[in-house]
Amino acid sequence: MPDRQTLVDIARRMAASGLNKGTAGNLSARQEENGERGFLITPSGMAYDTLTPEDVVFMRFDGAHTGNRKPSSEWRFHRDIYVARPEAGAVLHAHSSFATTLACLRRDIPPFHYMIARFDGDTVRCANYATFGTQELSDAILVALRGRKACLLANHGMLVFGDDPARALALALELEELCEQYWRACQLGQPVLLDAGEMARVLDKFTTYGQEQR
Ligand code: 13P
Ligand code: ZN
Repeated sequence: MPDRQTLVDIARRMAASGLNKGTAGNLSARQEENGERGFLITPSGMAYDTLTPEDVVFMRFDGAHTGNRKPSSEWRFHRDIYVARPEAGAVLHAHSSFATTLACLRRDIPPFHYMIARFDGDTVRCANYATFGTQELSDAILVALRGRKACLLANHGMLVFGDDPARALALALELEELCEQYWRACQLGQPVLLDAGEMARVLDKFTTYGQEQR
């Protein structure tokens, strides 16, 4: 189970990798503390280079939290993803440039590249717009995440979930790269999309891709 230091380290890497600037974005990891089930989450509005393990907040699924800091204003969607999706071990939210650019057009990312299947479907959907930090935003995100482990947030950014914070960061970087490639291809014309049969083949191949069973 990830400790507070791991969360701080990966949050710093979010900033160092260019995914987030300033205090945009947040990161959490499923955690059990003193027999209580919940998650660790980054504090609200703090630059990651100043974070220490003591700044990380532990929150239970009922929203009660312990620690010196206020939790991220987006704790609702982190909480709701852990409750609705038992396979989620870490949730990462970012305002990365290319994902956010597409999210401002409120467009789903279509199967323009086979790597879209990394996120478990043949599109990455864009969740309906709702004000940051609201239950309405969390509800819209859960709909967009059906059968997927990533989505865009209209006029806001993106999120991914993974087995642990390091894997969530790797997935977020892959999604940002795909958003940049899609944006670039759109500058030159209409990208040619892969059909449903090909995406089904790729989704099947991803079940055994790499060194470990996913
Ligand atoms: P927090 O600093 O409260 O995590 O908010 C950042 C953000 O991205 C809100 O959507
Ligand atoms: Zn945000």
